[in-house]
Amino acid sequence: MREAYLDNSATTRCFPEVVELMNKIYLEDYGNPSSMHHKGVEAERYITEAKRTLAQILKVSERNLLFTSCGTESDNIAIIGGALANCRKGRHLITTEIEHPAVLEAMKYLESREFEVTYLPVDGSGIVSPQSVEEAVREDTILVSIMHTNNEIGSVQPIEEIGKRIKKKNPSTLFHVDAVQGFGKARIYPKKWNVDLMAVSGHKIHAPKGIGFLYIGDKVKVKNLIFGGGQQNGMRSGTENVAGIAAMGLAAKLLYQDFDTETGKLYDLRELFIKEVGDIPDVQINGPQGREGAPHIVSLTVPGVRAEVLLHALEDHGVYVSSGSACATNKPHLSGTLQAIKLPRPYLDSTIRISLSGMNTEEDILQASSALHEIVPFLRKYTRH
Ligand code: PLP
Repeated sequence: MREAYLDNSATTRCFPEVVELMNKIYLEDYGNPSSMHHKGVEAERYITEAKRTLAQILKVSERNLLFTSCGTESDNIAIIGGALANCRKGRHLITTEIEHPAVLEAMKYLESREFEVTYLPVDGSGIVSPQSVEEAVREDTILVSIMHTNNEIGSVQPIEEIGKRIKKKNPSTLFHVDAVQGFGKARIYPKKWNVDLMAVSGHKIHAPKGIGFLYIGDKVKVKNLIFGGGQQNGMRSGTENVAGIAAMGLAAKLLYQDFDTETGKLYDLRELFIKEVGDIPDVQINGPQGREGAPHIVSLTVPGVRAEVLLHALEDHGVYVSSGSACATNKPHLSGTLQAIKLPRPYLDSTIRISLSGMNTEEDILQASSALHEIVPFLRKYTRH
């Protein structure tokens, strides 16, 4: 059966060029970057090159990049490491109600350690008001964490404006951005936007799982959470994942070299999907409409049909999507984001997420839409009896 993989916010397929490069590293250039011989120097070179690429894309310095194992680790180092390094200045943090568990669970951990956290609401499109952020910042606020792109509905926060307001109110408050869903889909400039810390993950951008990075601005104090041999200036000990790092650098380069064309293509596919499913009775698109939001995420509510049932029925047609936030766990739960945008209670369990990548085609969209046209009336009839 033809497969239409529309779950790219959960993870992406690696670019073939990326796999080729990794293969070379695993089979030929497999040295430890800390080794002093030629093999080590060669391995180190891959890291330097990846750093250069990523730093150029973000318009930051290479020294500002710390390689990690994933987006979750980057968020944890930023939030917990940031809080521990700055707790003399205060114990208050701010975030939003629609963050990924990588941020929310780190915040909960800090709450259990006598930090105080303010959770800001969002509007019906999933946007936090910059004014509400500014109002929440206090003298003892050490860190604000706000995601760039929401993983469930694709809302994109006004990061630049929020950064400006945070620093105006309290210049010593750190601003962390979870850019796991935004990097590769939007142009992001942490330094220019007053962002001190920023988390990125490799497997969302056609690099493999097990690699990510954290941007750490100059003079930003973060406590290391991993101890050992002192790699990466002691900020994260452990032998670097050379193949993963090189892969992430190359994937980012490929994504950003044709950025406008690729993003335009994603928006076109997203619009095509929304148009195609528009005549299924009562379906609803959640979050930002048009080109305001992310180009690759569609949140679709199909009242009267349980998301999990729909997901498996689509799977039988070769179409892969997710219900709620698949990257969290496979345990059924009610989405915090959908609750925060005040989706009516019965809709929470009837919402699926379709997420695209540059590897998708119109054919994938038409396959998904025709499967939905076939499945939805059938499932609705079935549920009503
Ligand atoms: N933050 C957001 C917004 C995400 O969507 C995800 C994963 O889906 C993460 C963090 C965690 O990233 P990783 O899977 O690399 O740990």
